[in-house]
Amino acid sequence: MSNRTLAILKPDCIRKNLIGKVIAQIQDAGFKVVALRMVKLTPDAAMGFYEIHKERPFFKDLIEYMTSGPCLPIALEKENAVEDFRKLIGATDPQKAAEGTIRKLYAESIQENIVHGSDSDENAAKEILHFFSRKELLENYAS
Ligand code: ADP
Ligand code: MG
Repeated sequence: MSNRTLAILKPDCIRKNLIGKVIAQIQDAGFKVVALRMVKLTPDAAMGFYEIHKERPFFKDLIEYMTSGPCLPIALEKENAVEDFRKLIGATDPQKAAEGTIRKLYAESIQENIVHGSDSDENAAKEILHFFSRKELLENYAS
């Protein structure tokens, strides 16, 4: 699945009514939507997804933020998906993000930064399966 990555439009993206704009920017950059769903994460689901950060000082706030409203996971496909998507969204801290990136354009803070993007092919594969079944990924791929 090295041509795939997982995006999540985070709760601030949904609250700010930016779903359409952000998805348009993603598609204009050449990504194909393979699967998409709106979900309200439970604390357990958010903690599982961000397990890697559980010792970080911002972990509790991160879980509160990610469970503060619905979010929208999207499985995306493109050649070099992981790296190209990280470029498209920009640095974690919007103040450090390059001009024109999604986080630079729309993010409020290092926490409320609009969108998630997988950081490696290995994590992309795991993260996609966190939200979508192999069956639906296969069905969507065939369509
Ligand atoms: P990224 O989402 O760019 O891969 P990380 O994996 O380091 O960034 O962090 C996961 C998420 O945790 C970030 O997107 C952001 O919402 C939040 N976060 C990261 N660093 C901080 C911080 N220093 N303070 C508050 N929230 C943070
Ligand atoms: Mg990360």
